[in-house]
Amino acid sequence: MKNEIIFNLIKVHQRIENACKMAGRNSSDVQLLLATKTVPAEKIRIAIEAGETLMGENKMQELRDKNDILKNLPIERHFIGHLQTNKVKDVLKYATCIQSLDRINLADELQKQLQNQNRKLDVFVQVNTSYEESKFGLAPEDVLSFIKKIKTYETLNIKGLMTIGLLDVEKEKMIPSLRLLRTIRDEIYSEGIEGLQDLKLSMGMSQDLELAIAEGSNMVRIGTSIFGNRFLGKEIWNENIAE
Ligand SMILES: *Cc1c(COP(=O)(O)O)cnc(C)c1O
Repeated sequence: MKNEIIFNLIKVHQRIENACKMAGRNSSDVQLLLATKTVPAEKIRIAIEAGETLMGENKMQELRDKNDILKNLPIERHFIGHLQTNKVKDVLKYATCIQSLDRINLADELQKQLQNQNRKLDVFVQVNTSYEESKFGLAPEDVLSFIKKIKTYETLNIKGLMTIGLLDVEKEKMIPSLRLLRTIRDEIYSEGIEGLQDLKLSMGMSQDLELAIAEGSNMVRIGTSIFGNRFLGKEIWNENIAE
């Protein structure tokens, strides 16, 4: 198990390197986030001991269940799943960044809890760039006004934009939803808003890592290529099932 994870990590880092080379980009501009839903803490620990520093969970319960093992390890925990407002308080016990900010009432609840705790939080705004009904995230055309609004929330540091690209067997079908995230960022840049001139793009998963890097990703979120397929009994994990 250990050797397999380490071997997979080396392969993923090679894929990132190669994709950066192809795109004429510096590989230090692309971070690797371990997507760890359904992965036991012991396996995550192997990746941390191999040098990984960033992980993302989709469910509050998994953050909580793995906390005993992970809390003292040098790993930054992000939340990358759909977040219900009634889970905010608990998620804030474990996560230092929410990548799935997609509505004002969630921003309101974050602001309220963070004010109580007198702290700030990094956030990514999630955008539904594939326009799939099954996916969470803001509609692309709503992102600019949303960002302008939450920029006034003093507890939220807007770090960038996140999307789950359209997955398909055909490469040509996957590119537009990735490219759109970059276009949206460039539109935000063109507004020249102070404090919004360095936004990271969180996109790219096991299937579309190379395409995402070619389209400007700064953070790829990889699960399957590192930890293997996710099976919960007979049921295959569905990222869109809310808690
Ligand atoms: C599961 C998940 C990933 C990783 O997907 P893989 O195909 O396993 O690499 C990335 N981002 C989010 C939001 C996820 O839910």
